[in-house]
Amino acid sequence: MTNSPGAQDLILQIALPVPLNRLFDYLPPPDCDPALLQPGVRLLVTFGKTRMAGLLLGLSQVSDCEPGKLKPALALLDQSPLLSPDDLDFLHWVSRYCHYPYGQVLLGALPVALRQGKPAAAKRELEYFLTEAGREMQPEQVKRSPAQQALLRLLLEHPSPQPAANLSAYPAAVKSLVKKGWLTSRPQALPRAPGDAPSLPANPEQQQAIDDLIGKLGRFSVNLLHGVTGSGKTEVYMQVIAQALARGQQVLALLPEISLTPQLEHRFRQRFRHVIVCSHSGLNETERLAAWQAMRQGEADIMLGTRSALFTPLQRPGLIILDEEHDVSFKQQDGLRYSARDIAIARAKHLATPVVLGSATPSLESLHNAQRRRYHLLSLPQRAGSAAAPGVHLLDIRNKPLHAGLSEPLLAAVRATLAAGRQTLLFLNRRGYAPVQICHACGWVARCRHCDANLIIHAGERRLRCHHCGAAQALTEICPACKTGALQALGVGTERIEWQLRQMFPDKNIVRLDRDTTQQKGALQDFLQQIASGAADIILGTQMLAKGHHFPGVTLVALLDVDSGLFSIDYRASERLAQLIVQVAGRAGRAEDPGQVLLQTRHPEHPLLQTLLSGGYSAFAEAALRERAAAGLPPFSRQALLRASAPTLEAAEAFLSRLAASLKPLTPPEVNLFGPVPAPMSKRAGRYHSQMLLQSRARRPLHALLDQIETLLDKMKKPKGLRWSLDVDPIDLY
Ligand code: ADP
Ligand code: ZN
Ligand code: ZN
Repeated sequence: MTNSPGAQDLILQIALPVPLNRLFDYLPPPDCDPALLQPGVRLLVTFGKTRMAGLLLGLSQVSDCEPGKLKPALALLDQSPLLSPDDLDFLHWVSRYCHYPYGQVLLGALPVALRQGKPAAAKRELEYFLTEAGREMQPEQVKRSPAQQALLRLLLEHPSPQPAANLSAYPAAVKSLVKKGWLTSRPQALPRAPGDAPSLPANPEQQQAIDDLIGKLGRFSVNLLHGVTGSGKTEVYMQVIAQALARGQQVLALLPEISLTPQLEHRFRQRFRHVIVCSHSGLNETERLAAWQAMRQGEADIMLGTRSALFTPLQRPGLIILDEEHDVSFKQQDGLRYSARDIAIARAKHLATPVVLGSATPSLESLHNAQRRRYHLLSLPQRAGSAAAPGVHLLDIRNKPLHAGLSEPLLAAVRATLAAGRQTLLFLNRRGYAPVQICHACGWVARCRHCDANLIIHAGERRLRCHHCGAAQALTEICPACKTGALQALGVGTERIEWQLRQMFPDKNIVRLDRDTTQQKGALQDFLQQIASGAADIILGTQMLAKGHHFPGVTLVALLDVDSGLFSIDYRASERLAQLIVQVAGRAGRAEDPGQVLLQTRHPEHPLLQTLLSGGYSAFAEAALRERAAAGLPPFSRQALLRASAPTLEAAEAFLSRLAASLKPLTPPEVNLFGPVPAPMSKRAGRYHSQMLLQSRARRPLHALLDQIETLLDKMKKPKGLRWSLDVDPIDLY
């Protein structure tokens, strides 16, 4: 071994949260112990004019920078690495797969508090307990201090660790006993959940899935748990989790939506006598840091969270679960555009653990992978317990009178359900009062000035709102174009249906659940409570309702408009519509009552609806996969979308055209370049969007080309105001 160099000979290679795909060289901070300079510690540095926390990745003796120009880092922020070499390795893979700068991936994977350079130790109250020497003492031996004697007596009588608050009457005595070596302290242990509910006796299908998954603990596997809504997937998760916990392993359970976490957390707390932490955007910085640290240090056993929880370091990893795996919320749509589903699989592989993807309506990607035996398929085709599946019927509304979008047969069903004392759930994926405001005289339509979009009428607040950029203006009654015509509301949104229902059923409790009614903290939970307690008679809402909530009292479910999903330009629209129908339908008849599901449509003969009704989701998926295969679309090909936006469409397009020109000679025959073309909604928030699609039958040539794009983009001159992004495996081409 050579002599270890002094700190001052070393050059630190630091990753910074900046959009450049490289590391930055710094000198060690003054008076820094070189032994502490380990990969994975944070350092505070100046970059340009700003200070930021970076992550040390390596040490070197040489730098490409002139020696005199290297700046010392300002301070070492951690005494030991925050991320292990394994974590760094995994995040490097993420950076390469998503083609996103490593520094931004790394720092972005840390809780916000750590990104901002705050201390890594989570603040926690201390608890005190006697040392071995302390336990051998008799209170009588402490003659001179009555306070110390009383404290010692107290601690001998209560041998369990005492929170600092319990000893606050003896501040001086605590210090003295600690000094004598009789008393010591440590951060208070995290509380365990009660976990006093027994597991349910599994039905044969559940048991098969449970046994299979338990047999796979300890090594990597990808498992798709396809279970109809109410089939008891959660029960399967919980029994497998119990086994992982019994082996001393940690579990990561991911949900697409923050609103789903309280329900699952409650079930987990009842079941497991372990330390359960949560991680989602509803928690503050301190809470998220504490949860992150608790998993990293192995003090917590289960983390329940939304997609970003996936990056939490685990001390004893055992199992990763991704519930509602089909949900588009698992894809991050800005910054690092990752699919939590794909990253979870990569993470599980890295950690050598099984990953379980669960859904009643698996994504076509996952079903395809299961067919090709890349994923192991586990099926729960029946509802658990006694609940029967709901009957699904089409309501042909062609030429039928509608009352705010509600047909007469539907209203009759609502009345019957109310009379039976049951709950009704109405679904429409359009919030606001009406999607169009039009002049009856001249045909003028209220448009957003900043977007290619209509303004939506919000009658309650008497405003027009753009749902794309947030622009808002007061509602007027006279047409601004012809100055005489009266303005009318065209079409139906949830607000209008609520208004209509209140007219028709004045003495019923109508609950509207959409982004407008659930803005306030706690509002959604309050509504869910009203639904659960039976206080709500009619529940009306947007896609929020389609996510895994349980509504056991609901026996009538209606989708008011399925037609808009049947004729979209987005090739994924039919998959989304089928998932939506099956998911919303799954809210009905969960208890003993078999429910009824009504779909209002003007296209009752449409093949998607017919296949779904006669053969269920699996039949739909088979047909949809055949169509995708024929068209060469994902999952039968891989895509990446390059988006650019600028103050004018010309600037955005010119930029992509230049890129396309440099790219063409590099493009292998397997990869097709499409575009640039204006984005489906080109003007958004005053900026113009253009895009270029790359598609390839195989992943490798596409990613090789993406590597080259990165280099090209770094070198290319960008016009003022231009922004670009790269989306690998995009889930919408918008
Ligand atoms: P999923 O997650 O598939 O929608 P859940 O796990 O939430 O289904 O189960 C739906 C309902 O069925 C719950 O009320 C659950 O307690 C019940 N359940 C699940 N498994 C069983 C079982 N083996 N026996 C009886 N009831 C069950
Ligand atoms: Zn007019
Ligand atoms: Zn707008």
